[in-house]
Amino acid sequence: MLSQQQIKHLITGSMVADALGVPVEFQPRQSVAVSGMTGYGTYNQPPGTWSDDSSLTLILMANLTEGGDLEDLFRKMVRYVENGDYTPFGQMFDIGVTTQKAIDNFRARVAPLDCGDPSEFANGNGAIMRLAPLAITLLDQVDLVARIAAIHDYTVITHAHPRSVVASVIYCELLRELFLGQSLASALAIAMNRAEEVNQTDELMHFSRLRDGSFVALPESVIASDGYVVHSLEAALWANFQAETFETVVLKAVNLGNDADTVAQLAAIIFLSGHPEAPIPSDWLKTLVTTPQADQITADFAQAFGQPN
Ligand SMILES: [Mg+2]
Repeated sequence: MLSQQQIKHLITGSMVADALGVPVEFQPRQSVAVSGMTGYGTYNQPPGTWSDDSSLTLILMANLTEGGDLEDLFRKMVRYVENGDYTPFGQMFDIGVTTQKAIDNFRARVAPLDCGDPSEFANGNGAIMRLAPLAITLLDQVDLVARIAAIHDYTVITHAHPRSVVASVIYCELLRELFLGQSLASALAIAMNRAEEVNQTDELMHFSRLRDGSFVALPESVIASDGYVVHSLEAALWANFQAETFETVVLKAVNLGNDADTVAQLAAIIFLSGHPEAPIPSDWLKTLVTTPQADQITADFAQAFGQPN
């Protein structure tokens, strides 16, 4: 369904968006005015540097290509934290608290499915930021129950509260429907219906603005762009309804500020899932830091799960 080229384009676009947001991550909205690739800022990294969102996505891609299990996945995350593997410059500079805690649990020999934090206060966006490759590999899985089981497992290894699982189901099923050619509005409606299959009706009420579509028409001032998974998902979707090109959607998302890199990365993935041929500005591509490892992982994943061009 997706070609190898489309998969590579989607991953590259997501890394570009991450890199656009890195210099302004955690900055308040009123102080953010991004119009292109900049550097330094929050983490003092050069322009084009991507962060944990991309590193954890690369890790999942590598593991899915190899057919690795959840322990193999955690071993890669340990190498990210300890050795700076899967980073632009061999050093990790950014990781979410909940993901770090899960990796620490794995290092203390906790079973992968028990490593995630089940508390309500551990509902950050750390799971959905890495899950786009899973949605791609689940494209030929026609059984919804099997898809939800996979999404559940790949979420709870770090984020074990049911709200995070619901968010991951909404996100992955949304991407699936966009890959299959649905419009954004209908893909979202289908994804929200599927989330009910998870049987967490009390959790779904936290996503009520996505369910009734009311968020689309809301002014920017009431769209939160912090790291709470409900807010990040809504903000990324909102940006997609406000603009029509990769460039404008991603800038809309980055300029929401706060968790700018992750919201922009999610917005870019959502956009390119529905517009797989949409161009990415060439000066952004030129500035993006590339590594042989990231290129190889992306190419191998695309070859394993994409159709020949
Ligand atoms: Mg980040």
